Amino acid sequence: MRWSKTYIPTLREIPVEAELISHQFLLRAGYMRRLAAGVYTYLPLMQRVIDNISRIVREEMNASGSIEILMPVLHPAEIWQKSGRWETMGKEQMRLKDRHLHDLVLGGTHEDVVTDLLSGELKSYKQLPLNLYQIQTKFRDEIRPRFGLMRGREFLMKDAYSFDIDEEGHKIAYGKMVDAYHKIFARCGLPAKQVESDTGAMGGRAAHEFMVPVDTDGGENIILSCDRCSYAANIEKAVFREINPPAKDSTIKAMQEVATPNAATIEQITAFLNLPANRFAKTLLFLADDQPVAAMIRGDRQINEVKLRNHLRCLQLEMAGPEIVEKVTNAPVGFAGPVGLSIPITVDPEVAAMVNCVVGANKADAHILNVNIDRDFKAAAVVDIKNAPAGEGCPRCDGLLVQSRGIEVGNIFMLGTKYSEALGGKFLDAEGKERHYIMGSYGIGITRTAQAAIEKYHDEKGIIWPKAIAPYQVIITTLNMNRPEQQQAAEGIYSRLTAAGYDVLYDDRPERAGVKLNDADLVGIPLRVGIGDKSLADGKVELKLRNETTVEGTPLDRVVEKVKEMLGRAI
Ligand code: ATP
Ligand code: MG
Repeated sequence: MRWSKTYIPTLREIPVEAELISHQFLLRAGYMRRLAAGVYTYLPLMQRVIDNISRIVREEMNASGSIEILMPVLHPAEIWQKSGRWETMGKEQMRLKDRHLHDLVLGGTHEDVVTDLLSGELKSYKQLPLNLYQIQTKFRDEIRPRFGLMRGREFLMKDAYSFDIDEEGHKIAYGKMVDAYHKIFARCGLPAKQVESDTGAMGGRAAHEFMVPVDTDGGENIILSCDRCSYAANIEKAVFREINPPAKDSTIKAMQEVATPNAATIEQITAFLNLPANRFAKTLLFLADDQPVAAMIRGDRQINEVKLRNHLRCLQLEMAGPEIVEKVTNAPVGFAGPVGLSIPITVDPEVAAMVNCVVGANKADAHILNVNIDRDFKAAAVVDIKNAPAGEGCPRCDGLLVQSRGIEVGNIFMLGTKYSEALGGKFLDAEGKERHYIMGSYGIGITRTAQAAIEKYHDEKGIIWPKAIAPYQVIITTLNMNRPEQQQAAEGIYSRLTAAGYDVLYDDRPERAGVKLNDADLVGIPLRVGIGDKSLADGKVELKLRNETTVEGTPLDRVVEKVKEMLGRAI
């Protein structure tokens, strides 16, 4: 492709609305333009990246035995009502009404539709196992669309669904997807880390996410991994083995209220009472679907709202504001405690194990010493609701947990029979008995993967695409289009590389050399063939990999071999 014949509107200025470097480069390098919050037009270079990622995804999905289909984006509300997700998807689901005022949904995921599809069609165990996938635009009314393609309201996803006779069959299907995902991301130049994850609104039993490790704000997920074994989990799911459990009193003592003037935070109260934070139990108040609830964790821990929300099975969970806290506890913020509290209390197991702990007294400037679960307050439930901290022990081995950040590019779920039961997905087994098939669901964010690659591979000048997903593998840059010799050399190289099967972008614009070289770096094509008078006088052109600094002078007749050799070294 000739630059002059395509559309690559690069920008000099850094777009102000873009916080992430990858988002800035997508706009500056002319890959996309914003239409509305979380909604983008993909320009020609982006379209090619999407095609490349989609091709890799298709090849590996097909190789795994999954079969491509294309389901509708527009769904009747009834399917979602039948599965129960009309309620549980909450405001994230994009909805509209047709002219007859019927409720419709713009699909954000397709478990419900695919199960409905098969519920009338799949009748016998002989038709199983089955795995169907599609690549399609998805809609989600994200609370905070941000970071460009990372969290859009409209984005491209590959979603696959597996159907199996029994658990064993399902495990094989799940394993095939795990393998396919590792291959897909490795081929995209983005080896992804597989971590255990929360099942959330999907309602399944187990799940894994595939994370591209990055240390920037783009890494929206926090991952805890073992420094010895393969244990790795999203913080929404991670558990740990405590290395130094605090000493426990051997006898249960009587409760005692103490004055703690102005000591409302854990730092203040530990200093005031001269006790370590792990002797305190924090009582935090939340609104779960507008109902006040309490959660208790040890003073040295952090609450994990996803774990709490999953346990409470609520749609919305938010920290209670000062008015609610005062109304529920009769005390200012900072003195809430479980004794005499009339709302349900979810208690973390570490708190349930404490003997004689210190809690807020539900009274200004007061705490209570020697509080014990069951004797002094009742738990509505004892469940893990805390973050796993780095430095604690791995739950599987003697190793230690380390914390890192990642971009979730794929997500796989074991769904069990949730959807087949709700939507009448049945088949007759070999004995003629009616059974619900076991499902799995498997997503890959195509557009998010593209941006994750930029977030991972760039420098201050621009993008450095992995060659497998780059819009073009080679860019030919003539430094001066007024020189017929340069044009002629460029044309020759362009046709030879194209004939050899490379995707080549020829920057044939009559721009200054500096502009063209900067643009080549900005758009991030893995290999540049620079054509200037100086080297051409020696019968050479200058080849440079985007991820290296050295320029390699190469005789005109050796360009094709040299391109092959150098691209072998590219990411
Ligand atoms: P997240 O936790 O980031 O919201 P999710 O768990 O909602 O993701 P899934 O429902 O599993 O995501 O969707 C499958 C894949 O689709 C994700 O792994 C991600 O790559 C992509 N994806 C999800 N939401 C978005 C979005 N708003 N914009 C772009 N890609 C998305
Ligand atoms: Mg989401």
